[in-house]
Amino acid sequence: MTIKTVGVLGAGTMGSGIAQVFARNGYEVHLVDNQPSHLQKSVGKIQKGLDKCIARGMIDEERKLASIERIHTSPRMEVFAECDLVVEAVTEEEPTKIALFQSIDRICPEHTILASNTSAISLTRMAAATKRPDRFMGMHFMNPVPIMELVELIRGLQTSDETFNTLHEVSKTLNKTPVSVKDYPGFVSNRLLMPMINEAIYTLYEGVASAEDIDAVMTLGMNHPMGPLKLADVIGLDTCLFIMNVLHDGFKDSKYRPCPLLQQMVDAGLLGKKSGEGFYTYEAEPENIATF
Ligand code: NAD
Repeated sequence: MTIKTVGVLGAGTMGSGIAQVFARNGYEVHLVDNQPSHLQKSVGKIQKGLDKCIARGMIDEERKLASIERIHTSPRMEVFAECDLVVEAVTEEEPTKIALFQSIDRICPEHTILASNTSAISLTRMAAATKRPDRFMGMHFMNPVPIMELVELIRGLQTSDETFNTLHEVSKTLNKTPVSVKDYPGFVSNRLLMPMINEAIYTLYEGVASAEDIDAVMTLGMNHPMGPLKLADVIGLDTCLFIMNVLHDGFKDSKYRPCPLLQQMVDAGLLGKKSGEGFYTYEAEPENIATF
C-alpha cells in the first residue's frame, strides 16, 4: 500500500517532530490540534528544526521551504479524510485517545492506517474501539523525533501483516530503524528504561547515594549519555509514574511497584524540568531531549 498523505494529531513535542520528519521526507502532512496556539508554536518549532537540519548539512534551503509547504495545519480532524495514514500524538490519556480514534475512524476512508505514538497504552485495546483493528498499530517515535533513529513498531493482536509491512517500509523512508515489538506493557523501550529509573529513585530514597552520585555512576561508569535521575526530570516525573503504573497493573508483578518517593514528588507537583524542580532544580524552560 502506498502512503502519500499523512495526518498527525497533536502538535506538541512529539507531533511537531513527527510532522517535520514526514514533511522533510516528501509526505504531505495534515497537522491537527484543538489548540490553535499549539499549532502556531509547532510551526515555529518545525522551522527551527529544519534550520538545524540545514546547519548539519542534511538539507538545503530549497528542501526546507518545500517541507514547510507540505505541512497544512488545522484545528479540525475532518482533514484526515484525505490521509492514507494518521499518527496520533495527543496527551497520554486512554479515554481521550479512544474517543479521538473513534472519530478518526469515522472520518477516514477505508484504506487509511491508524497509528498511535503512545508510550505505554495497549494498542490492542485502542484498536478494538475502531472498526479497523487490522489497520491499527503503534508507531512509537523517540524524542527528539528528528534526531533519534529508532521507531518501535507495535503490533496489536489483530494488526495485519500488510499494515505492519507498510509502516515498516514507511519508517525506512523516514531514515529510521524500525524494530518489531508485541503489544506488552511498556513495549520494549519503557519496560527496560522505566524500571532502571525507578530503581535509581529507590537508591536515592534508601539513602544509598546522592542524586548527583547515582547519576555519575551511570554516566561515568556505564557510559550512559545522561544519568537516570536527570533523565527522569527531563521526561517528567508524572509520565514516569504513569508508565510504572502501566507496568505494575499490566504484569501484576510487585517488581514494578513505583517508588514511594516518585509518588510523593508527583503529589507535591515536583515534576522535573517542566515544573522547575525534580531531582534537580532548573531555572528556565528546558530543551527537551528525553528518549522515552
Ligand atoms: P504534548 O503535551 O507535548 O502534546 C500533546 C498535544 O496534544 C498538545 O498540543 C495538545 O493540545 C494536543 N491535544 C490534546 N488533546 C487533544 C484533542 N482532543 N484534540 C486535538 N489535540 C489534542 O505531549 P507529547 O509529549 O508530544 O506526547 C504525545 C504522545 O507521545 C503521548 O502519547 C506520549 O506518551 C507519547 N510520547 C512522548 C514522548 C516524549 O518524550 N514527550 C516520547 C515518546 C512518546
